[in-house]
Amino acid sequence: MDFLRLLARNRLAFAGLIVMGVVVALAILTPILPLAPPDVTNTANRFQPVLSEGAWLGTDHLGRDLLSRLMWGTRLSVAVGFAAALIAATLGAGIGIIAGFYGGRTDNIIMRGIDMLMAFPYILLALAIVAALGPGLMNALIAVAAVNIPFFARNIRGITVGIAHKEFVDAARLSGMKDARIILSEVLPNVIPVIVIAMSTTVGWMILETAGLSFLGLGSQPPQADLGSMLGEARSALITNPHTSVVPGAMILVIVMAINLLGDGVRDALDPRLKSGALSRPMPATKVDRKTIPDQGENAGDSLLNIRALETQFHVKNRVYRAVGGVDLQVAPGQCLGLIGESGSGKSVTALSVMGLVASPPGVITGGAAYYKGEDLIGAPYQILRALRGDRISYIFQDPLATLHPLYTIGDQLAEAIRVHHPVSRGEARARAIDLLKSVRIPNAESRANSYPHELSGGMRQRVGIAMALANDPDVIIADEPTTALDVTVQAQILSLLNDLRRERGLAIIFITHDFGVVAQLCDHVAVMYAGRIVEHGPTDDILRTPAHPYTTRLMACVPELGQGRRELAAIPGLPPLVDQLPAGCAFAPRCDMAHAACKTGDIALVAAQTGRAVRCLTPHNTPVEVGT
Ligand code: ADP
Ligand code: MG
Repeated sequence: MDFLRLLARNRLAFAGLIVMGVVVALAILTPILPLAPPDVTNTANRFQPVLSEGAWLGTDHLGRDLLSRLMWGTRLSVAVGFAAALIAATLGAGIGIIAGFYGGRTDNIIMRGIDMLMAFPYILLALAIVAALGPGLMNALIAVAAVNIPFFARNIRGITVGIAHKEFVDAARLSGMKDARIILSEVLPNVIPVIVIAMSTTVGWMILETAGLSFLGLGSQPPQADLGSMLGEARSALITNPHTSVVPGAMILVIVMAINLLGDGVRDALDPRLKSGALSRPMPATKVDRKTIPDQGENAGDSLLNIRALETQFHVKNRVYRAVGGVDLQVAPGQCLGLIGESGSGKSVTALSVMGLVASPPGVITGGAAYYKGEDLIGAPYQILRALRGDRISYIFQDPLATLHPLYTIGDQLAEAIRVHHPVSRGEARARAIDLLKSVRIPNAESRANSYPHELSGGMRQRVGIAMALANDPDVIIADEPTTALDVTVQAQILSLLNDLRRERGLAIIFITHDFGVVAQLCDHVAVMYAGRIVEHGPTDDILRTPAHPYTTRLMACVPELGQGRRELAAIPGLPPLVDQLPAGCAFAPRCDMAHAACKTGDIALVAAQTGRAVRCLTPHNTPVEVGT
């Protein structure tokens, strides 16, 4: 259903679907429609014009009813085209999967055979096959299918090679599955969409090729009609009685156009990347649509990056996902601000919005500002953003394997990060890259610089990610859960590394995490985020000692502590709200055991509670919570 809806959005494809639906329905119904017999000749009645009595589309050179022949011919042509596509897809995909899955010599032998087939012009090959087998519709079908096998085999082999080395295939092998089972249950489901797409875009082509062979007299034999042979027979009367050629010609045109439009639509609808957004590429910077621009505020002070009332939404069809709903954050040089919250609370979107890195569509920044040294970055011209990205403000992402290019050595990638912003020579950039690798404590930096990302361990890759963020000596680093995928020892090393860097270089760090332990180690301030808003903000020590918002309290109760004996870990019941249907009032109220009626109406403001602290709650906790100091 989802698929049909997506298809219907593409008007041309939908038109193609309707036309093909009608053609196929008519073709299926042809035997029971009240048509004149298609093969009975009546030479007294030849070349009747269109709309003559008893023959709506006229008659051909032997007096046969053209409408009837057209319907039977369409039935045959469409059936042969689809059959050829199905055969070519099945055999081609089978060959491709086997070659791609087994690789090595099997792959070589099969693919060189396919290459030999591809070396002949396909129509010549089809003619040769029909010549060898003898004319006839069946043989034309075989020929058309055979010349299209290489196309499928090559396509599917490429996809299979990629899949055959994925972890889930290895896992299936380890679980003791036989190859045949792995191919059928693991590989095939992944290539079927590609097969369907390739088929939908080639059926029209195959109908044309079959018609071509029939036109040359090598396909369907008289008196049997298919669209190609009808055209062939009408050729001699092209000038005197053009309608005999126009009728089958127009039908071929309509069918092939409809199938091609439909095929394009199917391809777009099956591509999951196109499901959420329009058919467009993301813009270089997030779309900005603000009514008002907040000023820097009174307590901007000496802050380097000052985010004010930032609002970012995702507009998907007619839904609005309020991922970030008015966030204020500030960091000064040498400061580390922790941004903490459950998964999905809007931390990453906040961080990405600052530099306009949220993909648009569907992302839109609908309000707020982000002042870097007093200059607003939201909606700044792309040139300015580009100059700052990775130079003055840089990011460290969670998954370093996904952010490093697999085909370049890490040394080259670091050098590139420098050379994008600074006109230094290759040699200088490389020397600097090695220094950077040393500064993030990669052993044997000189030789490691020549390693590819897949040759490093996860912790090393993350350190390369940090080195890259440091490459241009930035003022601000935004680290988005950089240690979540790492084990605790590596995590501790990376945290102390970041800590040293900010003290030595006066870096401002925004550290995103869902782990209070990490915040306690690294950050001097922390902002707690829930459903796109800051619910509590203040110095880390104070908040750890006396959390004010019930959410903060519950979040801290989820952290296991070593050396405190066994204790029930208090998971928070329920789930965070969906950001496209936020409740009125406090978003946490439905999960909060302190909630009362007033919490569920109206907007609740972020109120300054004590010095340097603020909380968005009507009944904040004040009781100090015992935390080992
Ligand atoms: P986290 O705090 O875990 O980093 P995110 O900032 O990534 O959370 O996501 C915040 C919210 O925005 C989530 O509810 C997520 O579902 C939503 N979101 C993120 N990207 C998109 C998108 N492309 N389309 C719709 N919603 C999105
Ligand atoms: Mg995130």
